[in-house]
Amino acid sequence: MNLEKSKKLFEEAKAVMPGGVNSPVRAFSSVKMDPLFLKKGEGTYIYDEDGNKYIDYVGSWGPLILGHCHPEVMKNLKEVVELGTSFGAPTEIETRMAQLIVEAIPSIEMIRMVNSGTEATMTALRLARGYTGRSKIVKFNGNYHGHSDSLLIKAGSGLLTHGVPNSPGVPEDVVKNTITARYNDIENIEEIFKTYGKDIAAVIVEPVAGNMGVVPMTQSFADRLRSITEEYSSVLIFDEVMTGFRVAFKGAQSLYNITPDLTCYSKIIGGGLPVGAFGGKKEIMSMMSPIGPVYQAGTLSGNPLAMMAGYTTLKILRDNPEIYEELDRKAEMLEKGLKKHVETLGIKASFNRVGAMLCMFFTDQEVENFEAAVTSDTEKYAVYFKEMLKRGVYLAPSQFEATFINAAMRYEDIEKTLEAAYHALEEVKR
Ligand code: PLP
Repeated sequence: MNLEKSKKLFEEAKAVMPGGVNSPVRAFSSVKMDPLFLKKGEGTYIYDEDGNKYIDYVGSWGPLILGHCHPEVMKNLKEVVELGTSFGAPTEIETRMAQLIVEAIPSIEMIRMVNSGTEATMTALRLARGYTGRSKIVKFNGNYHGHSDSLLIKAGSGLLTHGVPNSPGVPEDVVKNTITARYNDIENIEEIFKTYGKDIAAVIVEPVAGNMGVVPMTQSFADRLRSITEEYSSVLIFDEVMTGFRVAFKGAQSLYNITPDLTCYSKIIGGGLPVGAFGGKKEIMSMMSPIGPVYQAGTLSGNPLAMMAGYTTLKILRDNPEIYEELDRKAEMLEKGLKKHVETLGIKASFNRVGAMLCMFFTDQEVENFEAAVTSDTEKYAVYFKEMLKRGVYLAPSQFEATFINAAMRYEDIEKTLEAAYHALEEVKR
């Protein structure tokens, strides 16, 4: 595989950008190779600067559920760009977008647009604190909600932990109100509420975690999270940045039949442009500035390009529900095929899948939480990743990420992927 141009571009990039990238995972460090520089996307395929073609299972980390350059998204985007890129003033498309989401998702009565998932979760937590007048928040180990200070935290030692910052630059003082909890552990969350319940403003959770591989909540855990937050009048925040409009049109909350108080979105609702949003109960959302006291603002929030790309994507998904059935069928085909391969080759692996999000962990443990996810053999994943890449399949460059199916993918693409996977797994076995 010729990667000379990518290599050269990476050398140039490293001279002027830390690690040569604008987001760390792009540097391919955990698979121990230089990153590809990508040039073009077309449906389910991507092309790098050296002209190599790959089937894309990353989809820009989730947004591209329709694949690259969907004709209708591109057409509408081109039309709107001709009218101007940003006004910093209200535009009709913002209301149409909000209406679409409010009509689609029963838990969302009002919504505000921001520019990233990080902004969405950061502001949702501020809102929950403003609404409850409390300070503490609960976050689960292995869940990722972006890089705002109070969420850059890892579990401390002990069962009831105020976690410790997992990045220099985050003062202890900032995370002292963040409690870390074990995902899918009902006893642990009950213990936390027994001790701190009256001070807990919010619990934030990825209903299907997608940042430690793919790890869904159990139904009983989801039900208990809803009931315990109600008992203590804490705000339940679903971080559906990844799962929203992905695992089902109405998101993970529809699969679990849970009505969160607030929900965070990003990724798919921007159709590949920078966006984020948080929304929920009118009573809570009415606390937001300018009608309420909780402050938030954004120069580019709700900008017409992101709104148009996102609105068009959501409209296509809403009007074509069969897309989700197809995504599920294709994802199931991939999962079943991979399971068969690892069985045939005698490789220890375990699988989690929710709709078009799946993960093969190189471990023999069932993965229900972070502690199990990290038993995966990342060296094996690195071999698997490289061997797949050589065979024209672009997976996430880390074991602890989701594999995404997109609607432009055909059954032949899955067959090709499975053929590549058999040979890649043979190399893993070696
Ligand atoms: N929340 C979840 C569940 C995510 O997966 C991510 C990013 O991958 C974020 C929040 C942060 O979003 P962003 O990268 O847009 O800031």
